[in-house]
Amino acid sequence: MGKLLSWIVVIALVYAGMRLFVLFQRKSQAAALARERRAQAEAAGRSGAPHPRGGKTPAEGEKMLACAHCGAWSPASDMVAARGRHYCGVEHRDADAT
Ligand SMILES: [Zn+2]
Repeated sequence: MGKLLSWIVVIALVYAGMRLFVLFQRKSQAAALARERRAQAEAAGRSGAPHPRGGKTPAEGEKMLACAHCGAWSPASDMVAARGRHYCGVEHRDADAT
């Protein structure tokens, strides 16, 4: 009976060791992946020429909207939306708030 118990202990220890090993492997894999992603992002940031407007390029055929305050047309992604209207900037959004 004592022999069986020691076998159970050995098996439990081996099982626990394997679990720990898998966990450790997963952790180091995730760290390596994160390192790789960071390096890729850095490389992309260096090679890409900086766009004058903060790296945002309006997509081809993007919806254009007129500012509700001054009427200037801008790509929808560059507009500031408030109360169901669109503005060319926060200044005009705030100017139209009153
Ligand atoms: Zn405006």
